[in-house]
Amino acid sequence: MRIDLISLFPEFVAQCAAFGVVGRAGERGLLSLHGWNPRDYAEGNYRRVDERPFGGGPGMVMLIEPLRAAIRAARAADPTPARVIYMSPQGARLDQAKVRELAGHERLILLCGRYEGVDERLIQAEVDEEISIGDYVLSGGELAAAVIVDAVARLQEGALGDAESAVQDSFEDGLLDCPHYTRPVEHELGSVPAVLMSGNHAHIAKWRRQQSLGRTWQRRPDLLNEAALSKADRKLLDA
Ligand code: SAM
Repeated sequence: MRIDLISLFPEFVAQCAAFGVVGRAGERGLLSLHGWNPRDYAEGNYRRVDERPFGGGPGMVMLIEPLRAAIRAARAADPTPARVIYMSPQGARLDQAKVRELAGHERLILLCGRYEGVDERLIQAEVDEEISIGDYVLSGGELAAAVIVDAVARLQEGALGDAESAVQDSFEDGLLDCPHYTRPVEHELGSVPAVLMSGNHAHIAKWRRQQSLGRTWQRRPDLLNEAALSKADRKLLDA
C-alpha cells in the first residue's frame, strides 16, 4: 500500500510511522510513505502557503495553489489511482470498519490542514472524503494522518506476527476485546483466571467471549446494537 502525505510537516508523520509494527510494515515493503510539502510548490520569496480569510476573523487559511500542486505531484508520482482524504474535524468519525475499508485501498493521499483549515474550493475540487479522528480540534492534520497510517499499516497482510491478533482486537467483531494475562500466574496483584491455564480451548473461547460481551455491555453498550450476536451471546447477556 502507498500513502502520500500532503503536509507542511511530512517528517512528523514519517517519524510516527518509524517504530514497531508500522515501522516493520515499511521495512517489509507492505507500506510506503511519501511526503509532499505544499511549501515546495508555493511561489515568491516567502513561499506563502496561507492567507487571511475573506470576511475577516482570526487565523489564516491554506492557499489553493500550493496544495493543488502538491496533490498533483503526488498523483503523478505513481499511476495507481488514489483516494484523496482531507483530515478534518468536520469529517465522518473514524472507526475500525472505516480503517478496514481504507486498508483495502492500494493508495491513499492524506491531506493535512493547518491554521483555520484549507480553502473550501480545494476541498470541493480535489478531496474524495473528509475524515475526523474524534470530536476535538487538533492544531494540524498530521496526528490524524499518523493515526490512519498506523491503523491501516497493521492490517496489511504480513504486518502482524500473528494475523489472528488483528481479528481478535476490539471492534473487529463489533465487541471490545477480552482481558489478557501473561506470566507470572501468581502475583501480588492477583492470579490469572484458571480457565486460561486449563488447556481446554472450547472453555477458553467461551470465557473470552463472555468477557468480551460483559465488557462491551459495561463500557460501550452502544456497540451491542450493531454487533452480530448469536443466540448464545444473547443468552449470556440476559443472564
Ligand atoms: N477551523 C477548523 C474547524 O473548526 O473545523 C479547524 C482547523 S484545525 C485548527 C487545523 C487542521 O487540523 C484541520 O485543517 C485538520 O486538517 C486538522 N484537524 C483538526 N482536528 C482534527 C480532527 N479531529 N480530525 C482530523 N483532523 C483534524
